[in-house]
Amino acid sequence: MDTFFKRIQSKTRLFNPLKDFSLDEIPFEIRYDPLTGETGRVFDTPYRPPDRPDIAEIIQRSREMFCPFCPEALEKSTPLFPKEFIPEGRIKQGNATLIPNLIPFDTYAGVSILSAEHYIGIEDLSPEIMRDAFSAALQFIQKVVGFDPEIQFFSINWNYMPPSGSSLVHPHLQVNCGYIPTNHQRIQIEGCKRYLKENGKSFWQDFINAEKERKERYIAEIGPTFWVMSFSVISD
Ligand SMILES: [Zn+2]
Repeated sequence: MDTFFKRIQSKTRLFNPLKDFSLDEIPFEIRYDPLTGETGRVFDTPYRPPDRPDIAEIIQRSREMFCPFCPEALEKSTPLFPKEFIPEGRIKQGNATLIPNLIPFDTYAGVSILSAEHYIGIEDLSPEIMRDAFSAALQFIQKVVGFDPEIQFFSINWNYMPPSGSSLVHPHLQVNCGYIPTNHQRIQIEGCKRYLKENGKSFWQDFINAEKERKERYIAEIGPTFWVMSFSVISD
């Protein structure tokens, strides 16, 4: 068994109504996250995934309501950072504007508004729009590090459109920086420490080497970054 990418293949038995109630065996797989040990389940579904939700009505309704991120409201209706932290009050980068989050998740909480456009279809999220939004987020993180070097935990989060939990249609990212890790960050740190203690080396270098060797999920290395698909989705 692959000790790095551990998976258990199993099956369940049933009389299957989709096969005239003949006795059937349906396979599934349990995968372990190589860092945290959390398990995820992988299986085929005999049902078609639901069609994309019809969001036209949500978009139309949102256009009729007040949107603080649209250009005519942004200056007057969104907060400013304290002058000693970010003298300009907000961070502007190309199409993107980063403002403080009125609903803070952490000590330093920013919202990177992708552009002046109220709605951007997922197919219209151009490389330039993504670059500007993430560059603004990165600038914010760098300013936090310069202003408060005790901050150790950073995350960039995105809920695209209300069906994924976003409160507003107008596309935006959330950037959170704080003293205390999120649960997911904490179990990753614990996993890194455990791996180092057991193996005497960094988990990440071994993980990158293992993914590159297998060529199953590896996408690319760009500069100092490594891109890969998940081996195990956290589903249970
Ligand atoms: Zn808007």
